[in-house]
Amino acid sequence: MSENITTKILETSFAKNDLNNPLSMPVYNTAAYEFATAEEMEAAFIGKSAFHTYTRISNPTVEFFEKRVQQASGAMGVTAVSSGMAAISNVFMTLAFSGANIVTTSHLFGNTFSVLQFTLANFGVEVRFCDLLNLDEVEKNIDENTALVFTEVITNPHLEVVDLKALSDLTRKKQVPLVVDTTVVPWCAFKSRDFGANIEVVSSTKYISGGATSIGGLILDHGNFDWSHSKRLTFEANKFGSMAFHAKLRGEIFRNFGACMSPQTAYQQTLGLETMELRFNQAANTGLELAQWLETLPEVKKVSHNSLESNPFYAISAMQFGKVGTAMFTFELADKAACYAFMNKLKLIRRATNLFDNKSLIIHPLSTIYGTFSPEMKEKVGISDTLLRFSTGLEHVEDLKSDILQALR
Ligand SMILES: *Cc1c(COP(=O)(O)O)cnc(C)c1O
Repeated sequence: MSENITTKILETSFAKNDLNNPLSMPVYNTAAYEFATAEEMEAAFIGKSAFHTYTRISNPTVEFFEKRVQQASGAMGVTAVSSGMAAISNVFMTLAFSGANIVTTSHLFGNTFSVLQFTLANFGVEVRFCDLLNLDEVEKNIDENTALVFTEVITNPHLEVVDLKALSDLTRKKQVPLVVDTTVVPWCAFKSRDFGANIEVVSSTKYISGGATSIGGLILDHGNFDWSHSKRLTFEANKFGSMAFHAKLRGEIFRNFGACMSPQTAYQQTLGLETMELRFNQAANTGLELAQWLETLPEVKKVSHNSLESNPFYAISAMQFGKVGTAMFTFELADKAACYAFMNKLKLIRRATNLFDNKSLIIHPLSTIYGTFSPEMKEKVGISDTLLRFSTGLEHVEDLKSDILQALR
C-alpha cells in the first residue's frame, strides 16, 4: 500500500450495498435505520452486529469520512463531531472529573481558552495555566488529579511551538495523557503520534473541509496511553486496554452530548480530504513567500511565521513540521488605526475569521476573537492591538502582494 497520504485517502473503500454502484460514497441523509427482525435490531443495539441504528451514534457517510481520516492520520480510533469545539469539549468531558485539574497555557485559540477559563470551572475542574515552554513549570503543576495536559501544536495566534517530544516524555513519566490540537498543521506535514501525543483534536472546518464548506471536528485516539493511570477510565482500561479512551468516548460521552457530524458535512469533508495535501502545499508555500517579502517592507513592524529563520521557533518547527508547517502567520503594523486602515483598503484579501479557506483571509484578533474579553482577560491572553493574522489562500502570490502593497501605500 502507498505511503502517500492522498493515495491512501483516495483508495479507501466502502461496502457497496447500493444497486447503482456509486463511485463516491452517497450521502445517507437519514436519522434512523430499519431492521428486518426484532432479533437483528437487538443485535445492532447491543453492538453484536455492525449495522447502524441512529445517526447521532453512527452513519455510513460519517463512518466513511472517519475511515479516510484514519488512513490519513494513522490514528487507532477516529470520531467525527460537529465542530472543533465539540471535539475539544468531548475530550475534556471524557477525561476530566469534579476535583480534577487540566494543565495548559493561556496562549490558545479564543474559544478553547473560554471553555477552560469559564465553562469547566462550573463543573469543579481546575485549570492550571502555565508556560508550556518551561517544562519545570509544567512538571510542578502536574499532580495526582491532573486529568490531561493540553496544547496546540502551533498556538493560534501567538504562534508558539512546544517541543512535543520533550513534553510527551514528561507526561509519559507523569502518567498523564497529552492532548494536542493539530488544527493548524495537517497530517501531510506532521503526525502528532510520532512525537508522543496520545489524543489529537482537529477543527476539520479548516484544512479538511475543502474551502470552508462546513463546520466539523475530529477526535483521534492514538492508542498509545496506559489508561489504567487515568482516574476516570479505570473500568474501561480493564475492559478495552489501550483503546479505553475511544471506548468511553464512543460508548458514552459522544452519544450523550450529541454533537454528531451531519452526513452532508461528512460528504463535503470527505471530498475536502482528497485535495488537502495539494491545497496545503500551495497555500503554505505562498504564505512563506509572502512572509519573507513582508519582512522587507518598512511599514511592517514585525512578521511572525514559524518557518522564517528570524522566528524563535524556527528550529523546533522545522524539526516537527518540516520546511513549512502551516499557511497561517501574523504581522504587525504601527498601531490599531494603521491595521484598520490597511484592512479596509484590501480588495482581494477578505476580512473574515476562519483559517485555510481557499481565499486569503485577514483578521485583527484582539478586537474580534477576543473582543468581548474584559481588559484583565485580554491581558491574560497577551495579544497586541498591532497584530494582524493572515490565513493564506490559493490566489497567485503576485496578486496577493499587489493587494497588500496598494492597501499599505
Ligand atoms: C478553529 C479552531 C478551533 C475551533 O474549531 P471550530 O470548528 O470553529 O469549532 C479550535 N482550535 C483551533 C486551533 C482552531 O483554529
